Amino acid sequence: MLEWKEEKMREFRVKFIERIKRAEAIESFRFSPENKVEFAPGQFLKVFFDELNKDNKDLNKYLSFSCAPEKEYIEVTKRRSESNFSQRLWSLKKDDEVLMNGPMGTCTFDSLHEKVSFIVGGIGITPAISIIEHVLENNISSDMRLLYSNMKEEDIAFKKELEDWNNQHHNFQIVWTVAEGEPKDKKFFKGLIDKNFILEHLSDCKERLIFIFGPPKMVVVMKNICLEIGCDEKKIKAENFVGY
Ligand SMILES: Cc1cc2nc3c(=O)[nH]c(=O)nc-3n(C[C@H](O)[C@H](O)[C@H](O)COP(=O)(O)OP(=O)(O)OC[C@H]3O[C@@H](n4cnc5c(N)ncnc54)[C@H](O)[C@@H]3O)c2cc1C
Repeated sequence: MLEWKEEKMREFRVKFIERIKRAEAIESFRFSPENKVEFAPGQFLKVFFDELNKDNKDLNKYLSFSCAPEKEYIEVTKRRSESNFSQRLWSLKKDDEVLMNGPMGTCTFDSLHEKVSFIVGGIGITPAISIIEHVLENNISSDMRLLYSNMKEEDIAFKKELEDWNNQHHNFQIVWTVAEGEPKDKKFFKGLIDKNFILEHLSDCKERLIFIFGPPKMVVVMKNICLEIGCDEKKIKAENFVGY
């Protein structure tokens, strides 16, 4: 499942700069690299809190870049859990050094695609943020539509940033859905993304490059729906967030 362009992958050290709250239990972590880290929007890296045992799956984990590659910092975003990895991440202090390895992943954006869509579940928003920020800040003309599904309203990460982009850029549109409870905000649809939802809100999906990011089960279901509708498999890029 994990594929990467090995020629650019390397270990590097970064210094922790700051934490930014993105939702009730989700925060972004910004780091300053010694030298610029080249990556493509949509890629991920590995964070090591156990450098001596690189195979330690408890303390060394994959996280996606949640910022455009042009930024001077590196940003990753994590849902907080009880895990040792979360504890180590949340206890970082300014200027603490962290070892990373990357970039990895082939679910990347290149500006050749005029029409792009994202089908995202929960914290799967992180690579989509990297791509959307890259497209908007570089004035790339690609038309982007995001279907963004969350369990609860308070789970929605990057809500403010996405709302602002939606309001300020004609080539970015977002459709929100919340699975549990009655959404307070009327712009949110209720329920999960299913075939009818995709047909209604992504009626031109066959013309689009489709990114699917989220937990493994959701990614399988969404990919199958897209294939059933008649989307070209070669135009579907899916990344499983193994570990959710
Ligand atoms: C390509 C990729 C990109 C990712 N990007 C992000 C991101 O941007 N933000 C983010 O928050 N997370 C991301 N993840 C998931 C991340 O690596 C962690 O697995 C996740 O955050 C849970 O870690 P935890 O320490 O909170 O959970 P834990 O409490 O350690 O684990 C949660 C549950 O998942 C199971 N689990 C943990 N690791 C694995 C594994 N490797 N394989 C199978 N089951 C496992 C555990 O048994 C447990 O049931 C990404 C994963 C991949 C593969």
